[in-house]
Amino acid sequence: MHWIDGLLDGEVSAQRGRLLDRLDAVLTRLSARGHAADGPRRAVRMARLGLIVARGYVHDVQPHGPDAFERIDHLEFRDWLRLHGADDELTWWAPVWAFYTLGFAFREGFNHDPEAGSIAAGVALRILLKFGFAYRDAPAFRMKAGMGDIVFTPLYDVLRKRGVRFKFHRRVTGFELGDDGIERIDLQVLKVGRHEPVICHKGVRAWPSEAVGELREPKRPRRRLRRGQDFDVVLSGTPAPCVPQVYAALADLPGWSDVLEMPTVATRAVQIWMRPTLEQLGWEGGSSIFSGYEPPIDSWADMSTLLPREDVQAGSLHYFVSCLPEVLEETPFDWWMAEDGPLLFPNYEKHDEVMRYERTNTVGSERYVQSPPGTTSVRLRQGETGVANLFVAGDWTRTTLSAGSADAAVESGRLAAEALIEQQSR
Ligand SMILES: Cc1cc2nc3c(=O)[nH]c(=O)nc-3n(C[C@H](O)[C@H](O)[C@H](O)COP(=O)(O)OP(=O)(O)OC[C@H]3O[C@@H](n4cnc5c(N)ncnc54)[C@H](O)[C@@H]3O)c2cc1C
Repeated sequence: MHWIDGLLDGEVSAQRGRLLDRLDAVLTRLSARGHAADGPRRAVRMARLGLIVARGYVHDVQPHGPDAFERIDHLEFRDWLRLHGADDELTWWAPVWAFYTLGFAFREGFNHDPEAGSIAAGVALRILLKFGFAYRDAPAFRMKAGMGDIVFTPLYDVLRKRGVRFKFHRRVTGFELGDDGIERIDLQVLKVGRHEPVICHKGVRAWPSEAVGELREPKRPRRRLRRGQDFDVVLSGTPAPCVPQVYAALADLPGWSDVLEMPTVATRAVQIWMRPTLEQLGWEGGSSIFSGYEPPIDSWADMSTLLPREDVQAGSLHYFVSCLPEVLEETPFDWWMAEDGPLLFPNYEKHDEVMRYERTNTVGSERYVQSPPGTTSVRLRQGETGVANLFVAGDWTRTTLSAGSADAAVESGRLAAEALIEQQSR
């Protein structure tokens, strides 16, 4: 991002804006003339899109400082592109569509309808610029084992060593608010007994999806934690827009009702282990990812790199993901594979599947928190909850991204820790 800021320095931004306008006029004429070949046509379109984004940045963000992206967050991204000269062809061109599908940016039940895509302009612009220019080594990484194993087990191990005590199988059902903060936390105890979250699997300390140990039903399924006795400060990672009932006691505090109503969307994920390799399936793009394909399954990643960590014998491993359509078809994946999949995997046969894991994420914190126009300013900062002893963390809070992603969740956790430390050291 500093690279761009340097390039588009404030004093010369007006001149650069005029230069970009002229370049856009040239490219618009070129694209109007049309090209027989796909390659040059795509190159001209990509250059136009890049120019329009750069021009918008120079006009709306850059003169107002590097953190001025929020100035345009009241606008929908495609409307903002149109303001800076994009036509309909460009606003729903495949790369733009792919950006919306990757970000689950469709209103629930409308992922077949392009006009139902909605993401705040500043959020989208910032992500695009980070993706394009502000990454280290690569814009995205593929894990070498499961996310639980690679990310959460090491964190768990470090925290355990530092003396942190973990209690699993507890669900917060509500808070009780006093004059000076949270006085009580109500919990539902789901299971008690010995639970070993980490197991050793193929040389990796792995985090299994099902609890390992000796667990049983609790005799007392309800518990109350009291301030001063059980806790002093609450750092909540429970996503408020997904489980508003947990935060019901806070709903009348300034800002909270908007947070509790932030939009979320259900998603679908399918993982398929297949006997053939990618090449044998007829896929010609090598190990890669795509997004923006035909609903109901629009995004795919080759995850065959995980196969050495798996027990399943397979030639390739595929992850598919998308927003969940409102109308649930019986077997959406099979339907998709019959209709649109063959263009990508022409040699696919159902009997080539070794194993399939399919799930929908529809309730509670399974849901994905979205970033449509007007929601960035609604997001809470981690230490500004309006409750003296409550801090919040998660991808639903205000971060430099303010969009659902692992990066935002990590940044939010760091900001929450900083806010907490600052308060405690006062
Ligand atoms: C299908 C799908 C694919 C995705 N792919 C990517 C990707 O490729 N890259 C990327 O960066 N991001 C991706 N994301 C987004 C990413 O998963 C989220 O942004 C991230 O997990 C948010 O982290 P978080 O800690 O804020 O919330 P969560 O991960 O949702 O954690 C919240 C925690 O709170 C717990 N909880 C909920 N309710 C209660 C309660 N009442 N009491 C106690 N605990 C509770 C939950 O069990 C959960 O452990 C994807 C999301 C989805 C849905």
